[in-house]
Amino acid sequence: MAVALIDLQAQREVIRADLEPRLSAVMAHGKFILGPEVNEFERELADKCGARYCVGVSSGTDALLMALMAIGISRGDAVFLPAFTFPATAEVVALLGATPVFVDVNEGTFNIDSSHLHETIIKIQKHSGLIPKAIMAVDLFGLPAAYDEIRAIASEFGLRVIGDAAQSLGAEYLRGDKVGVLADVTATSFFPAKPLGCYGDGGAIFTDDEELAALFVSIRAHGKASDRYDIVRLGLNARLDTIQAAILQSKMTVFDAEIERRRAISLKYDAALSGYVHIPEKPEGILSAWAQYTIRTERRDHLKNVLSDANIGNAIYYPKPLHHQTAYVQNTDILSSLPVSEALCKEVISIPIHPYMSDNDIDMVVETIKKGLH
Ligand SMILES: *Cc1c(COP(=O)(O)O)cnc(C)c1O
Repeated sequence: MAVALIDLQAQREVIRADLEPRLSAVMAHGKFILGPEVNEFERELADKCGARYCVGVSSGTDALLMALMAIGISRGDAVFLPAFTFPATAEVVALLGATPVFVDVNEGTFNIDSSHLHETIIKIQKHSGLIPKAIMAVDLFGLPAAYDEIRAIASEFGLRVIGDAAQSLGAEYLRGDKVGVLADVTATSFFPAKPLGCYGDGGAIFTDDEELAALFVSIRAHGKASDRYDIVRLGLNARLDTIQAAILQSKMTVFDAEIERRRAISLKYDAALSGYVHIPEKPEGILSAWAQYTIRTERRDHLKNVLSDANIGNAIYYPKPLHHQTAYVQNTDILSSLPVSEALCKEVISIPIHPYMSDNDIDMVVETIKKGLH
């Protein structure tokens, strides 16, 4: 690879001296399930985000599922979410027997379109027999969704707001509010390729609500009460492993610097690529975590070949909107087409933005794109 889409080996060299003693310590104390590192990491991450509670769980998908379980989502409920996202966002709604209702997105930010959200809620309320219950806002590619607008719509209709922050940990919204406090419940992922990734699966849930936080602790261990064999609700086996918590503690030592570097790379790309492709929109006052730098061009398939031929990492997130996925097509009868999501799937391509690329790497990516589109 001339320039990798993501380079975890470079990161590993940087954290090696900090990481290895932490791993040895876990193996020595042997508390692999809910060992002390889990609680320490939860506290550290909650403080960093300004959230009252953080509960470590087994994946981002489980974090989303548990968020919906805790607010009581079930059959007959409608949950609104963008059609242009990773499938997990919709899957957890359907697993609980509720109906995912797909909403179109904004082509500049890739995030849920507030006016289409408002329209869709009214349509579902009037014509579907489903009960609107929650909005899942996705912070796609690391950029926080338009939470002020989303929260206003949620209070108009009495809905809960769940933040799918799988890609946006480390991002900042207006007024300096960090991801973790922007929704009633925020779910994130530590999948290795996310901005804060572990060496396996992992996730976390943030909330300021004490009762919800207690529910998450119960649900992640089979629905237990404070006594381990007093089972008071349906739960899961969905804990964050101690060894992953130790890895995450180590990665936290470089996380701020990594986000800074991602931001610096995004600025270089903005300056070099505008005019050649559509660059991602940066709403005033909001700072993305830059999980991905995603550009749009009508010559996307051509550009993909050019980048791949030059050994430059690239990916298409996402090739198909969720309302066209086989598992979810049953929903299309109550919905019209979602033209922006459909167009984006044909035009987007994500290019390398990992914190360990050099300025030379950035130049190589830029020059390859410019030459390829000439
Ligand atoms: C990665 C991702 C998830 C799922 O996270 P996992 O930890 O892989 O389960 C959910 N939503 C979005 C938007 C994601 O990018």
